Amino acid sequence: MMRLFLLFLLAGNYAFATADSVAIDGKAFVKHIQVLASDAFEGRKPFTAGEKKTVDYLKTAFQKAGLQPGNGKSYFQDVPMVNIASTPAGPLMLKGKNGTVSLANLTDFVVTTPHVENQVKITDSELVFVGYGIVAPEYNWNDYAGLDVRGKTVVVMVNDPGLIDSTLFKGNIMTYYGRWTYKYEEAARQGAAGVLIVHESKAASYGWSVVRSSFSKSKLYLQAADNNRSRATVEGWLTLDAAKSLFKHAGVSPELFREAGVRGFKPVKLGLTTSLVINNQITKSTSQNVLALLPGTDRKNEYIIYTSHWDHLGKSEAIKGDSIYNGASDNASGTAALLELAETFAKLKKKPSRSILFLAVTAEEQGLLGSEYYATHPVFPLAKTVANINMDAFIPVGRTKDVVIVGKGQSDLEDYAEAAAARQGRFIRGDFNPSAGSYFRSDHFNFAKVGVPALYLKTGVRSVKNGEAWGKAQLEDHNLNRYHAPSDEYSSSWDLSGILEDMQLLFNVGYRLSNESTFPGWKTGSEFKAARDKK
Ligand SMILES: [Zn+2]
Repeated sequence: MMRLFLLFLLAGNYAFATADSVAIDGKAFVKHIQVLASDAFEGRKPFTAGEKKTVDYLKTAFQKAGLQPGNGKSYFQDVPMVNIASTPAGPLMLKGKNGTVSLANLTDFVVTTPHVENQVKITDSELVFVGYGIVAPEYNWNDYAGLDVRGKTVVVMVNDPGLIDSTLFKGNIMTYYGRWTYKYEEAARQGAAGVLIVHESKAASYGWSVVRSSFSKSKLYLQAADNNRSRATVEGWLTLDAAKSLFKHAGVSPELFREAGVRGFKPVKLGLTTSLVINNQITKSTSQNVLALLPGTDRKNEYIIYTSHWDHLGKSEAIKGDSIYNGASDNASGTAALLELAETFAKLKKKPSRSILFLAVTAEEQGLLGSEYYATHPVFPLAKTVANINMDAFIPVGRTKDVVIVGKGQSDLEDYAEAAAARQGRFIRGDFNPSAGSYFRSDHFNFAKVGVPALYLKTGVRSVKNGEAWGKAQLEDHNLNRYHAPSDEYSSSWDLSGILEDMQLLFNVGYRLSNESTFPGWKTGSEFKAARDKK
């Protein structure tokens, strides 16, 4: 395996860095992937023997690299979670002046509850259509204006108005206001008892089968002091057809779906009520984030945080006789990179001015829970946290001319990435499918939510050797045949040259930040700017 030597020049952007040459050790990196993605680690699912092996391995590697425990005297942060398996006791009943219509579980709707109780119910809760269900001061948009939805059930559309009118929000780039998790959060802030999102494949960027399968399994949540009672009692989705029949039963026009995207839209009371009982099976367990600190020299109370999720899907349904979901790309690669970057930073002759935290988080695959826990229970002050740099699922396609910035246009960190890419003779580009909201789908997002500028890069497609069409085909092949499948395994045929170059880029970004005194910010129009400005 090759060694990449990084030479730091005393020039331009690197005025704060001393001349320094460090090596990202490709051999050590591969060894970490091989161990983490081995069958012995059982697919690294939280609460399994695979978790124990994984977190012990990470702790030992951080220790060996000479890093300090990241949480007081410990390399671990407990993440208490609760698993809730929700089953609706019957169909979803819609009662109106024209009688009662019932919708069938899984075929027409799915529901869960985050409330940690054996049984929850909503009774005769009034239904209100709130359009996109968005309160966005920076876009002067409030679907809940003048409306009191306490105890009511809101019916809401997925995505944001920019999807159909490019002059609204960020056009076809989905803002966080478009994401289903936001719909739940806003409905809860408004005091709604229930929230039902209308599914539409294009707006959601995935089909009903994805919604159905993820809701027919149990769901994992962080344990909260209030047992999640601040959230809506019922959280769920309706198929587009079910929503249309609901509208018909209410005697309102399906034109409302379009009108909801026009400025000045007013919510519509549907004149229907709904009742539902949900039974729960509840299990509590604790998993772990693993964290290690490289203390800074002059500005040690300011932090750069690198993150990677260590977890994957564990053992599950066998495909072609293989039941271990090794997650070599997703995310043994990012976790191995985290260890390798920790080792690289620790070996620097001149230590960085700012502190660097290496944080391997749990339960990303279950809803970004480990990073949510850290962001809401930070060990180090968020106001002094300069940046988050996330690594999730490198793909071994070899060297590329391009680097993809997921959610491009959010923060100043992108300018750092662009400069670092240029030094490698590469260029940056945005997501290929900006309306899918990829920026909200990995761990950096939880840092963004609390205002910490967060950067997430993905493997590019313009292959140096084989061109862009080939690179795109590789990416599609990966998504189709290996993503979240037992075949996401390490192979000695992996071409690591591109991953090592990406790691070098991410090292350079963190290194530059760690020797500066500035705090990069959110770009104007970012939905996360307000959270930072408050700090
Ligand atoms: Zn991942």
